[in-house]
Amino acid sequence: MDNLLKVLALANYEVVYLVDYRKKQYRKILAKPAIDPLYPETGELNDAAMRTYLDSVLPEDREKLIRETQPEHVLLATREHGKIIVPYRRLSPGGKLLYRKIVIIPHPDSAGHIFAIHDMTEEMQQRLESGRDLRLKEEGIRFIVENMCENFMIVDTKTRHCTTYTHNSRIICKNDFDEQIRWFAENLIVPEERENYCRYFNVDSLMAKIAEEGGVCHTSCTVDYGDDRHTIAITSTLITDPENGTEPPFLFLYAQDVTSVKRMEETNRQLLFYNQHDKLTGLMNRFATEKRVRDHLHAAPTGMGSTFILIDIDHFKSINDRYGHLTGDDVLRFMGQSMKQVFRSEDVLCRWGGDEFVVFVRGFADEKAMRDRLGILRKTMGTFTHQGASLDITLSIGGVCLRSGTTLNRLFRLADEALYEVKNHGRNGISFKQIA
Ligand code: GH3
Ligand code: MG
Repeated sequence: MDNLLKVLALANYEVVYLVDYRKKQYRKILAKPAIDPLYPETGELNDAAMRTYLDSVLPEDREKLIRETQPEHVLLATREHGKIIVPYRRLSPGGKLLYRKIVIIPHPDSAGHIFAIHDMTEEMQQRLESGRDLRLKEEGIRFIVENMCENFMIVDTKTRHCTTYTHNSRIICKNDFDEQIRWFAENLIVPEERENYCRYFNVDSLMAKIAEEGGVCHTSCTVDYGDDRHTIAITSTLITDPENGTEPPFLFLYAQDVTSVKRMEETNRQLLFYNQHDKLTGLMNRFATEKRVRDHLHAAPTGMGSTFILIDIDHFKSINDRYGHLTGDDVLRFMGQSMKQVFRSEDVLCRWGGDEFVVFVRGFADEKAMRDRLGILRKTMGTFTHQGASLDITLSIGGVCLRSGTTLNRLFRLADEALYEVKNHGRNGISFKQIA
């Protein structure tokens, strides 16, 4: 019996009674120091002290506690199961909610029963707190999933079982991963991407890829929801069960609908393009060109050659006057296309304004080679026809080859001087100046 009491004391039982149903008496046989004064030392069953104690039990738990501590029930249940455990809640004299558990076992040496009352308040509070933490965490995850994620999936890499969570946080299915991927491919992914999609989501190769890419890898796919096509970005990584870190990892995949981000990017890209380019010819505009040339002049090491060329269409006004403004526009467009054909994509090709164009060739200042290229441009422009008739378009060109640093203003002034020399000599020609 001593041993039993020791065990009960060690198990944090705050008070232990011996109840004798035959004599209808109870007696306190073990108590922690400074326990609740409501616990009487000894008395008769159902006496005033016991009733006062029962009054402190919350009404919703009281009836069960009384029922399960009735002699008939105790005798029957302890004979059958060895013990009875009844959890209940009561209020302290100060009104604090206390969690208790009563364990009833037959006394080994007598006909009585041991009633051991265990204080569970701290334990329950911890349990409630961790339950609340878990609920808050789930609420946070629900928000993330609802707002940033189409769905996410956890795959057991051992069994290949997967669980998919949709954006309303409900589990849509538990399935075999390969089957699930096949279902997505056949029902959501656009036909042209299906094969690559299935290949990418092969578990073994995906896990190898995740390891190769440092723990996380990304892909995107196009999904057809029936109403519209959406771009979905899918991130894959490996996670381990925090309770069981030695188990093989789980594959964690989450999908985000990035359609609106993509559309915004595209709009921004277009805005940037229109901001820097001339609408009619598609060439760079004067504003963007000035910046490019200035940036280059600022950054280029001295001695690095460059060429700045100013081109003006001869008698362009009379083309407008004779054939109409729209034909004039066609000539300007044709000029843009021809410049793109003749020069390299890394050269700065610009419609400076009206019928004036600029070519800025970075890192190259060979006048002969430039004259050759401009010769091709002049020839190409000569091929322009309107309603089957040639318009004999000619160009006046002033160029500057520079080998040392200078300013854009000086470059433009020199190129303009060279151009006007050509204009003054009857147009349709090229003049070059050199800056040593
Ligand atoms: P020059 O041989 O001396 O260069 O004579 P020009 O007629 O080419 O020169 P001018 O500067 O007098 O004429 C340029 C004309 O280009 C005037 C303007 O109406 C026309 N122009 C400017 N922008 C556009 C445009 O976007 N479309 C059309 N069709 N014409 C334009
Ligand atoms: Mg002109």
